[in-house]
Amino acid sequence: MMNAPQAEPFKIKVVEPIKMTTREYRMAAMKEAGYNTYLLKSEDVYIDLLTDSGTSAMSDSQWAGMMLGDEAYAGSRNFFNMEKAVQEVYGFKYVIPTHQGRGAEHILSKCAIRQGDYIPGNMYFPSTRVHQELAGGTFVDIIVDEAHEPDVNHPFKGNVDLSKLEKLIAEVGAKRIPYIHIATCVNMAGGQPISMANLAGLRELCNKYKLRIVLDNTRTVENAYFIKEREPGFQNKSIKEIVREICSHADAVTMSCKKDSLVNIGGFLAMNDEHFYRKAQSLCIIYEGLHTYGGLAGRDMEAVARGIYESVADDFHIAWRIEQVQYLGERLIRAGIPIVLPVGGHGIFIDAKKFLSHVSQDKFPAETLAAALYVESGVRGMESGTVSAGRDKKTGEHKYPKLELLRLAIPRRVYTNSHMNVVADAVIKLYDKRKALKGLKMTFEPEEMRFFHARFENL
Ligand SMILES: *Cc1c(COP(=O)(O)O)cnc(C)c1O
Repeated sequence: MMNAPQAEPFKIKVVEPIKMTTREYRMAAMKEAGYNTYLLKSEDVYIDLLTDSGTSAMSDSQWAGMMLGDEAYAGSRNFFNMEKAVQEVYGFKYVIPTHQGRGAEHILSKCAIRQGDYIPGNMYFPSTRVHQELAGGTFVDIIVDEAHEPDVNHPFKGNVDLSKLEKLIAEVGAKRIPYIHIATCVNMAGGQPISMANLAGLRELCNKYKLRIVLDNTRTVENAYFIKEREPGFQNKSIKEIVREICSHADAVTMSCKKDSLVNIGGFLAMNDEHFYRKAQSLCIIYEGLHTYGGLAGRDMEAVARGIYESVADDFHIAWRIEQVQYLGERLIRAGIPIVLPVGGHGIFIDAKKFLSHVSQDKFPAETLAAALYVESGVRGMESGTVSAGRDKKTGEHKYPKLELLRLAIPRRVYTNSHMNVVADAVIKLYDKRKALKGLKMTFEPEEMRFFHARFENL
């Protein structure tokens, strides 16, 4: 709060009109989409909080950079600009561009994981875990217990429980752990940060066992803001300095630039180890594209380079971004809406188990709430609960996660606080009418990442 500007630290130069719809129209659209908000047409959405991924508004400088695309097959100047930005801002020597974050995860998993390995992490991210499993590994959750409790207020719910990691090492041996994959501002926990002290402790433990740390760097800039606000000793450091310090604890990073870096597409894998770099480079060529474009156009790499610098150029950008999320959170908290506490960095996570306490988890309360909020207001959110968790590979049963959430992710620099008021009013209105919602029945279920394509019927 102390570092936030009074209003948006930017002004609006281009606008995109949005279609206004009626409740009847939205009811028909939701039915046609099988009650899955992923299957809605975006033009039918009023305020789109499905994701903060690739939905940022780019700056005039980024758009100008798009016109400077060097679309050479090899050695594009935009690649060198992107490489330099990663080196300067995040501090890694070697950079491999990828089409987006999962491209980096794919290469990393293929390079490092052998059949039967274990990859500990502070909660899973869907694409990360799938790539680990496809490479023969098993994800192990080592986040602090508080992260699984939606209403336990803790400043760093993204922290690792070091004793859980030690227990795993004792059980399977350090040799079966190719690396630890640690996320900043943990999405599945509600955008909750990890503290610098915890990262330093993890580094120390990993040094003892000669374990590598790979950072999921997607929301490191947001995480840095929380460290500045909440962790003693960081108040007078710049976001840029804190970001560098976070990365100094990692051996490598995977990155989806579609979040912190303010672009619509792009990602990278970066590291300091030359041997790993060479191996990853070869896989990049097979799966993404030549190592100086990795599935991206030259213009996209330029937008990434500029976005990376902008995200840490001053502290106002990130302060405003996070405080807008806090603003929406405060309004909902004041109205008694059950949300994950404390409010995280990139969105509000409504506790659907509490909101719809009369709907059992096999009737998908979070998905039910997502569909109802769209019909109520044209606001689109995303399920993060039973549908996202998928089925247990051994038993074939739904994995019922402790957190059954409706995520309202806030795109960067896209909406004003007037939009946030519309969202808050709609959620509050729906809360008053919640008893009318009965849940959903799944009528179509894809095998992998079922949340994208699953279809439902209203109960
Ligand atoms: C988005 C995201 C990814 C995957 O990146 P994509 O660009 O969507 O492929 C990985 N980890 C986290 C934490 C993310 O938010």
